[in-house]
Amino acid sequence: SAVRNRMVQKLAAAGMRCAPVLQAMGTVERHRFVDTALANQAYEDTSLPIGLGQTISKPNVVARMCELLLGAEIAKEGGLGRVLEIGTGCGYQAAVLGLLVREVYTLERLRGLHEKARDNLRPFRLTNVHLLFGDGIAGYAKGAPYSAIIAAAGGDHIPQAWCDQLAVGGRLVAPIAISGGQQMLLVIDRTPHGLKQSVLEPVHFVPLKSGIA
Ligand code: SAH
Repeated sequence: SAVRNRMVQKLAAAGMRCAPVLQAMGTVERHRFVDTALANQAYEDTSLPIGLGQTISKPNVVARMCELLLGAEIAKEGGLGRVLEIGTGCGYQAAVLGLLVREVYTLERLRGLHEKARDNLRPFRLTNVHLLFGDGIAGYAKGAPYSAIIAAAGGDHIPQAWCDQLAVGGRLVAPIAISGGQQMLLVIDRTPHGLKQSVLEPVHFVPLKSGIA
């Protein structure tokens, strides 16, 4: 917990001002989501391998994306309701989201990681985090509309289903590849008048892939 607090202090020193996000990241034991051999690096600001060629995102990227989600217009009316995460991976970000929003639906296309996330999350007893195995490109219509959608994998366009499943006042945060292959963080707000898009800083996420495996 001391090492985790230091991570939180570093996030704050790097400009993260969103108290609920800092608190959630100070609570979730990130070392439980990586192999024991990597546990001593769990609170450093690096992405780490989680198996099957995938990675757990850096703490400052998780914090940044969660902060952006909480900035959704709809969140101003009493917090975020249902949130969809694409790319469960090891389940770390889903656990952080579970402390920040009412319900989390999280999709993973690799069965091995879906199962790993289930094992990782069990001790946390987060009854509001729903782990789903499937291709996130189609979103998850049963839970729609979502107050927010967050993707941990990036393609060269935003799937139409994600925009369709976003509530009015809701916000989507996702990496997107622009010309030259560089990935940028993209925010899409669904306003009563349509979609509003902002391109933020460069990021590095694993590719969004179609189908299950
Ligand atoms: N949030 C995760 C980050 C995992 S990396 C964490 O905290 O660990 C991104 C994940 O997205 C990978 O596990 C990858 O398999 C998954 N992914 C890629 N394309 C996907 C798709 N179409 N549907 C669902 N998951 C996908």
